[in-house]
Amino acid sequence: MSDYSATLISHLRATLGKMEVALGAIGDSIVWTDSSGRIQWSNSTFDRLVARQRFDILGASLLDLLPLKQEGQHIDAQAHPLIKVLQQIKTTDIYEFKQSDKTLFLEISSVWIEFKGQETSAVLVIHDVTERKQAEEQLLYHAFHDSLTGLPNRALFMERLGYVVESTKRHKAQLFAVLFIDLDRFKIINDSLGHTLGDQLLIGIASRLKACLRPTDTIARLGGDEFTILLEDIKDISDAVHIADRIQAQLKKHFDLGGQEVFTTASIGIALSARNYEQPEALLRDADIAMYRAKALGKARFEIFNLDMHTRAVAMLQLETDLRLAIEREEFQVHYQPIVSLKTGTITGFEALVRWQHPQRGLIAPDEFIPLAEETGLIVPLGYWVLREACHQLKLWQTQYPSSPPLTVSVNISGKHFSEPDLIPQIRQILQNTQLNPQSLRLEITESVLMENTESVVSILLQLKAMDIQLYMDDFGTGYSSLSCLHRFPIDTLKIDRSFISTMDVDSKNLKIVQTIIMLAHNLDMDVIAEGIETEDQQAKLKNLECEYGQGYFFSPPLAAVAAEVLIAKLYASSSSEPNCEASEYKSAQIEVDIPQKPSRRFLICL
Ligand code: C2E
Ligand code: MG
Ligand code: MG
Repeated sequence: MSDYSATLISHLRATLGKMEVALGAIGDSIVWTDSSGRIQWSNSTFDRLVARQRFDILGASLLDLLPLKQEGQHIDAQAHPLIKVLQQIKTTDIYEFKQSDKTLFLEISSVWIEFKGQETSAVLVIHDVTERKQAEEQLLYHAFHDSLTGLPNRALFMERLGYVVESTKRHKAQLFAVLFIDLDRFKIINDSLGHTLGDQLLIGIASRLKACLRPTDTIARLGGDEFTILLEDIKDISDAVHIADRIQAQLKKHFDLGGQEVFTTASIGIALSARNYEQPEALLRDADIAMYRAKALGKARFEIFNLDMHTRAVAMLQLETDLRLAIEREEFQVHYQPIVSLKTGTITGFEALVRWQHPQRGLIAPDEFIPLAEETGLIVPLGYWVLREACHQLKLWQTQYPSSPPLTVSVNISGKHFSEPDLIPQIRQILQNTQLNPQSLRLEITESVLMENTESVVSILLQLKAMDIQLYMDDFGTGYSSLSCLHRFPIDTLKIDRSFISTMDVDSKNLKIVQTIIMLAHNLDMDVIAEGIETEDQQAKLKNLECEYGQGYFFSPPLAAVAAEVLIAKLYASSSSEPNCEASEYKSAQIEVDIPQKPSRRFLICL
């Protein structure tokens, strides 16, 4: 060999060595095979990928060393010669490769096939995209799962439900159900225990719900305290009912949250696929409607969707739209029901009770729209309107018919107002604008409002008291409070709920309860108003029990402002200093008024 050749060979060897190092430094694997897929050469990145030494690699079959899977299927070089497989490769395809204990994701980013006479060979560049793929999967997981509980979210649930709805269109006999679960009073737990414990409770609930289901069922958290369950392949409605029962039983057991025992219940709505749903959203909507029905019927129960519920929901939606318009157009009226001193027979003031003068339906009683107004938050502007109207009206009456002490007005305040940051300034503003003395205003709060948000509510009540406004606890006996809690609230007067008064004469137990409430209120320096007095006998009994005040149809139903004014004027004329409504004294004057709850009936009251 000449010197020149020897130098050339050594130069070529050195260059080859450098190329080998350079190709090994590339992050991608490069492998060269013959037409049957036997490896002729590979770079060191490929060697590391298949975790073999070079001498094991050269001459070995590429697909033996790198058994690639696509969509769960191995690429089979026996069935198709490798070159044919390679010709069909798309550079965007991703292959799975199981490397010892982990799965790698590979892209064949380029394939170069060389035809040289009879000889065919191929060079593959393989790009490891495992990290990118994992990041994508992570993103995908987050897009379809709830980060707190790890359960599928609304998007995934709807996708799954959509799939089942479609498949049921083809296989009519298939039956499935959707359960819509909403926790009862979760907001109270969350607000009182804090969000961290609230979150723990949701996690606990998610795991109990999962334990109630079969592996084929889908459970999702839609958000907040709302969960949904898709029960596939059920026999009939009894399967769904059985699961709903099981869920109720599981949730009833206490949760231990950092040493604190917490109890919760859930309201469940069930919609069954038997109604031939076209869209998954319609099923979820109906399950939601049924859940609302379960809440309205007392919570901690389940209801199965039926068409009546749909009709009711549509009517409610219409009512909500009308209510929004009504607030804009001020279609409301305030009626006034006298509050009478049982001792002296004197009217001391009025309770302001709102009515809705609906353009088509006529006068609507508050029970029909207040719950909806509360739910939609419309009660806040409505409440301020009533307060303004009542304060304004009372100021007019006080000026026109002065008495000592002056007439008072009680206005019902919804729980929603207590979450309004500007409640106090708003009330102050209304009093200032109407020039009503705060001592003439009473605010009525139902006991459940007090019990559900004790601390924040008490602080607002104290501010109201500091403004000289008196506070009444309304509908006492119907909420959660026990008599022993009463002293915690800065309340001036208890209003005993009508349900106790109306059954007082038929049930001696209720008479005893009324007596106890009155005694307890007196011990706590509170006055008592008995609501819903309808008979002379009830009035006499309450007077005997030393109940200070009474309100009810026995004296007068709520009256429109004009009718109430006629009443005040009559009483004022008969007494130079103060109105006096001793029932027997006013038999001569009669006013005809509508009872708002039953617009068809006319009612005669004696004045
Ligand atoms: P409430 O505050 O307990 O008002 C007393 C209710 O009992 C009134 O019903 C009144 O008409 C009725 N009532 C009075 N005496 C008798 C009686 O002798 N027999 C019978 N059967 N009923 C009697 P109304 O006016 O239908 O109001 C129902 C409820 O709606 C009120 O109960 C109150 O909780 C709410 N409400 C009324 N107006 C307002 C308001 O402006 N704001 C808020 N937040 N709630 C209001
Ligand atoms: Mg009231
Ligand atoms: Mg009441």
